[in-house]
Amino acid sequence: MPRSGVNWRAARERKARLHAPVRFGIDLGGTKTEIVALAENGTELLRRRIVTPRDDYRATLDALARLVADAERELGVTGTVGLGTPGSISRATGLLRGSNSVCLNGQPIKRDLEGVLGREIRITNDANCFALSEATDGAGRGERVVFGAILGTGVGAGIVVDGRVLDGPNAIAGEWGHNPLPWPKDDERPGAACFCGHFGCIETWLAGPGVARDHVSATGIASSAQDIVARASRGDAACRATLERYEERLARALAHVINLLDPDAIVLGGGLSNIDRLYANVPRQWGPWVFSDRVDTRLLRNAHGDSSGVRGAAWLWGRS
Ligand SMILES: [Zn+2]
Repeated sequence: MPRSGVNWRAARERKARLHAPVRFGIDLGGTKTEIVALAENGTELLRRRIVTPRDDYRATLDALARLVADAERELGVTGTVGLGTPGSISRATGLLRGSNSVCLNGQPIKRDLEGVLGREIRITNDANCFALSEATDGAGRGERVVFGAILGTGVGAGIVVDGRVLDGPNAIAGEWGHNPLPWPKDDERPGAACFCGHFGCIETWLAGPGVARDHVSATGIASSAQDIVARASRGDAACRATLERYEERLARALAHVINLLDPDAIVLGGGLSNIDRLYANVPRQWGPWVFSDRVDTRLLRNAHGDSSGVRGAAWLWGRS
């Protein structure tokens, strides 16, 4: 084939790439910020990571703008931009609230970033990004209603229906971590104090620190959740018992979700989602708490791991 033929084909492919929609997703975290560019089929075209400027709102905005500009120059495209970050935008004020990057709270980050980038952006919290990523092309792909729950240092969740994040008037759909653990036993009342001001929240039982606290109260031995999981897999009886209590509580907490939402799939993320035994043992135990003669909801491990936050932010501009 003549050399010029090859060049023409390359030019045609480049042109097609320029006109395909590219979605940029940004995961703005307290310590690192990541950008990804997704093609229409979910292929990652680019991924970059920077250290998040500390305690400086203007510097954070500038860093986000630079990430997008550099990525667009590198790929030779202009794309849509979705931003995932802890916290939520108040509908009443347009200001971010509840972020653990406290310098962002009270700031009109959506409006400011739209001004800098010269286009509309979409923004949601990291749990919604997780749920959207897994519902779009992850473990929950093809399912109509997906509940994505993060079990990590805290407990959060998001709901996706027909490929879209459920976004209600209070911007808290899926915030189930600060509901009380349902059907508590006598020795589970009132439960540990939670930072939110209540006692016995689901988060105080099902986040990593809750596993450690439960283990120390049962055995007197202080261990991290990670250590407890590792020792349970090596046959340590006390650690296995702690995981059995964890599974039974998770079954109750998710039965509550199933009764309210009746999701097709529940996808777990966060560090504790790596416990293999959850996926068999929890559905085996949620039946008695679900108000139905059978439960067809599937409990699934996430497909995209730590990438779900940044990929879900990109998918805020849905699939065409
Ligand atoms: Zn709470």
